[in-house]
Amino acid sequence: MIRKTRLFTPGPTPLLPAAQFAMAAADIHHRTPEFRALFTKVLSQLKDFVGTSNDVILLSSSGSGAMEAAVSNLTSPGDRVLVVTAGKFGERWVGLAKAFGCHADVVSAPYGQTVSLDAVKAALKPDTTAVFVQATESSTGVRHDVKGIAELLKAEKSEAVLIVDAITGLGTTHLDMDAWGVDVLIGGSQKAVMMPPGLSYLAVSQRAWDRMETSKNPGVIVKGLKSKFAAIVTDGQGEMKGSLFRIAHIGFFDYLDTIAIIGALEQVAVAAKLPVPGLEFGKGLIAAQKVFAERVK
Ligand SMILES: *Cc1c(COP(=O)(O)O)cnc(C)c1O
Repeated sequence: MIRKTRLFTPGPTPLLPAAQFAMAAADIHHRTPEFRALFTKVLSQLKDFVGTSNDVILLSSSGSGAMEAAVSNLTSPGDRVLVVTAGKFGERWVGLAKAFGCHADVVSAPYGQTVSLDAVKAALKPDTTAVFVQATESSTGVRHDVKGIAELLKAEKSEAVLIVDAITGLGTTHLDMDAWGVDVLIGGSQKAVMMPPGLSYLAVSQRAWDRMETSKNPGVIVKGLKSKFAAIVTDGQGEMKGSLFRIAHIGFFDYLDTIAIIGALEQVAVAAKLPVPGLEFGKGLIAAQKVFAERVK
């Protein structure tokens, strides 16, 4: 008897047959004018889909990757941010904000409910630099009042940028980014648009672009490793410049090299007081030692 597998998960959702066929037919080189034309068309159609005149950026990452990109590019360590949460995905904002060294004020409601605007108003401080919320909290199905929060920020003359995770909200609920004044709206590929996971997109307002210019997230490591240990690693490239560094491990590298660079990294990170939760000597080394012991027999 045939047992047909059917996805009934909230995401990934079952693939649209047209998307499956398009992927099966795709045989296109990504550094050609043909690809550039297709990509330009997709970006412009994404603007229509999102319903914005703002730039839309497409990332080859999970939705959570786009959430991380928003936090890392729009905040600096020590910033005071406000997170509205009533479920698992709201908690992801809290985790990300803390991981990037922000002080997170959290307004929460029990799972299955939403947060009142009065509670958001009470938690909003004059020095709040960013507000994070889900359009729809997929872990419970609850919709947050994004429009109300945007209006509140305007009424309070807040400087905070408003970042909305609409990974399940886009295509399912009414969102008017430009009219409401949302600064970053995040979408994914595997929910309402019925494509496989692994693509995400962010619509970015001019205010958000301006804010990114002021973000001070870590660029310290790369320099410290070179000056202290003569260890050369590379910074991120292009848009990721300043937000990541890269340590090679392909080629003529062995166990001793890897352990040494992790140890050096801990020295630099601790000395620079990088905003990594629970940062202390030995943690990275212990983790690496365990992986080595498990995998290499
Ligand atoms: C699915 C989902 C995410 C996470 O997306 P991934 O691609 O699995 O990282 C984040 N936020 C919401 C609201 C979601 O529904």
